[in-house]
Amino acid sequence: MCYFNPMSISEFTLIQHYFASQALCRADVLLGVGDDCALLKVPPGASLAVTLDMLVAGTHFLSDADPEGIGHKSLAVNLSDLAAIGAVPAWITLGLSLPAADETWLAGFCRGLFKLAVQFQVQLVGGDTTRGPLTITIQAHGFVPLDKALRRNGARPGDAICVTGTLGDAGLGLAIVRQQLSVPAGHAGYLRTRLERPVPRIRQGLELRGLASAAIDISDGLAQDLGHILERSRCGARLTVDRLPRSPALLACVEAEAAIVLALTGGDDYELCFTVPPRHLEQVRALAAGWDCAFTEIGVIEVESGLRCQREDGTLYKIQRPGYDHFA
Ligand code: ADP
Ligand code: MG
Repeated sequence: MCYFNPMSISEFTLIQHYFASQALCRADVLLGVGDDCALLKVPPGASLAVTLDMLVAGTHFLSDADPEGIGHKSLAVNLSDLAAIGAVPAWITLGLSLPAADETWLAGFCRGLFKLAVQFQVQLVGGDTTRGPLTITIQAHGFVPLDKALRRNGARPGDAICVTGTLGDAGLGLAIVRQQLSVPAGHAGYLRTRLERPVPRIRQGLELRGLASAAIDISDGLAQDLGHILERSRCGARLTVDRLPRSPALLACVEAEAAIVLALTGGDDYELCFTVPPRHLEQVRALAAGWDCAFTEIGVIEVESGLRCQREDGTLYKIQRPGYDHFA
């Protein structure tokens, strides 16, 4: 369909120039950008993992945000979903709604998108481009061996609850971007990077296949996202909040109690939260020693439903607000 006139460059030129020009050519892409459909080959014995995330200007980023960062993040959040289910990424499609064919914006967006795409060997195989409010929709496709996916419903009482990386950084980064808080420049740079350039934990998701009993990526805050595992697995959990991994920057910029609140409820970190049965814990600890991010055991799955938080000394810790909800 053609909704693009009367813009400075034609829809066709725009697609040719920006989206049909990716250097990466995967062998399993029989037909990529430029025809009516892409034709793709799923390896035998694999299930196709499919996920889609939308980023809307004004909701997920400010309209004047750096386009390269937007390109990075719109792919990273999708790859994070593939990581959380234990899939190896393969292809993406891109739905783009743009107020104008702004070539500076497009060039920056593609730089951010393709830089991350090549890092994970992901090929853009199609999409749609139209005029409208700035919105980026990416659908990502990956492969998981049949029955090896890390689903949300496999946690069992006694399993250890673990997370990758540090928590709360992106939540504080958002407060900095919104100018609700000013912090020393060095820390501000790190925290903004955590918000704008999340690192999808693909390697961790792949290594956890066959070992973790459940997994989710943390997009809306640990308390809320762990809650999804608990609901789907029909169990509860106990967390020790003093064990939540917090970065030196987070600890330097806010008081200890505020850091705990951010680590529990701040969104946009895109770390993995996963559960590990006791019989696999030693193996996971050994694997995690080779990771380029932290690995922390923060609690345990219990029979009784609900999330209970405690301090290191066993006293109760009360959560004020569990996490982000677009419609709350
Ligand atoms: P149609 O009208 O048949 O949907 P389009 O003109 O929308 O075709 O798209 C032409 C080709 O360009 C298709 O292969 C489509 O997948 C691809 N394409 C369009 N927009 C994008 C985009 N934003 N990213 C990647 N590929 C795109
Ligand atoms: Mg189309």
